[in-house]
Amino acid sequence: MGRDRWAGTAWLVVLAGCVVLRIILGASESDLLVTVAPYMVITIATPFVILYGTVRHRPPHRAGWFLLFAAQVFYALADSLAVADDYLSGEFLEPTPADLLYFTYYLLFATAILVFIRRRTPGWDGPSVIDALVIAISAGLLSWIYVLQPLTSDSELPLNAKLTQSAYPVLDLMLLILAVRLVMGAGTRGPVLYLLLSSMTLMLGVDAAYLATAIADGGAVSEAYLDAFWMLSLGLLGLAGMHPGIRHFDRRTDTALPDASPARLGALAVAVLMAPGVQFIEWLRGSPPSVPLISGACTVMFLLVLARMSGLVAAQRRAAITDGLTGLRTRRYFAEALSAESRRSLRSGQGLGLLIIDVDHFKKINDGYGHPAGDQVLREVARRLSSATRAGSVVARYGGEEFVVLAPHTAADELYALAERLRSEIADLPIAIDDDLLSVTVSVGAAAGGPGRGPSGGVCGEPEFLLRTADEALYAAKAAGRNRSVLAGTTPVPH
Ligand code: GH3
Ligand code: MG
Ligand code: MG
Repeated sequence: MGRDRWAGTAWLVVLAGCVVLRIILGASESDLLVTVAPYMVITIATPFVILYGTVRHRPPHRAGWFLLFAAQVFYALADSLAVADDYLSGEFLEPTPADLLYFTYYLLFATAILVFIRRRTPGWDGPSVIDALVIAISAGLLSWIYVLQPLTSDSELPLNAKLTQSAYPVLDLMLLILAVRLVMGAGTRGPVLYLLLSSMTLMLGVDAAYLATAIADGGAVSEAYLDAFWMLSLGLLGLAGMHPGIRHFDRRTDTALPDASPARLGALAVAVLMAPGVQFIEWLRGSPPSVPLISGACTVMFLLVLARMSGLVAAQRRAAITDGLTGLRTRRYFAEALSAESRRSLRSGQGLGLLIIDVDHFKKINDGYGHPAGDQVLREVARRLSSATRAGSVVARYGGEEFVVLAPHTAADELYALAERLRSEIADLPIAIDDDLLSVTVSVGAAAGGPGRGPSGGVCGEPEFLLRTADEALYAAKAAGRNRSVLAGTTPVPH
């Protein structure tokens, strides 16, 4: 750790020295090669700093970091060529060799970020893709209105120059989308992520400032300050690459990230409001707003936000009706299903069966093997119950180690057969816990309902009646020695 801190500090000192020198030289020195020398030191050093970090910390998957190294090599080459070009006042036709090297840099950098995203969030993370699209459309609209449109409508510029110059904001936009996707997807948070993102944000911000000022006043920007910010961005990238955190950077987060955190909703709100905001500003400035473009962007963004909303609502509903431990339905879902099925049964005259299943001596399992082993038993019991019931039945976790099965269109004798089948599914095959095989049994109380009056006065088939009689039957099964099924209104059958 000491060595890593030392290396980080050394890099920061070199960076600070070069930035200060670049600004001082920018104000005094006139020889181009001398003024840009501090900038070139940082540009050329950055890939090697990343390489140093990768070799030293040996992250399990090195591809992303090697790609970043390669990207920065191309960046340094491109910068060197651009400086040489400026120095010799060479008149290259656009795209110049430096442009081609910069484009290669962008592609390598984007690939590196994509590699990180794929490792950190494998599979298809729909909500993050939608969020990234919303932000991409918003940023795309801005860069079209303020950068690309002015650039392409500049009639003095030849086509090849227009195309080359337009490529930069488009490539920056691509990196922005990837940065948004990187931060919104799953994956460990920590210094490496934040350093990488600040480096990218700074780079994109300075690029945007450079483009905006170049378009506004034909290129008269204080190059020393632009260079200083670019150097800071490279410095942050170097710090990310040499941080020990790169060992865990491409891991998923252990805890699930909230899908709709306040920061994420805030970013989406800004992105969505950007389009009407731009339209308003353009109107204030008296320039004709691009109505079809902006309404098109708004429409697509509204639709994406709606898709996102329906996804969130569906996820909430799924969470409310799915038991977290076993994946069965929750008690809440069961209660809704019970009252709906009972109404249907009373109307149609078809039978409705209810089973309450309680694990026998479950406390002993918890006490003897620990709570996690108890959970494992519950999961296995749940799995067997749901695989042994018909598709139309509802299997739910009623509470702790109690389960319920709701079997529509089921007469009393079929219900008893089902209860016995489920009981033996559990009892016949021991459950493996660590290296032990555990014999687990359950007791089942069954209540068969249908139209008509129940034995104790309730309407047979109403939810309360079914629950009460099934519970009484379960109690009878426990009292008769456990590991058995009792159908309400009958006497327990001895084994
Ligand atoms: P009986 O045969 O009479 O049903 O005996 P029992 O030991 O199963 O008794 P009881 O039903 O009262 O015990 C329920 C126990 O289940 C008590 C509680 O600690 C445990 N429990 C409840 N929920 C969970 C859970 O989610 N995980 C685990 N591991 N244990 C739970
Ligand atoms: Mg029990
Ligand atoms: Mg119990």
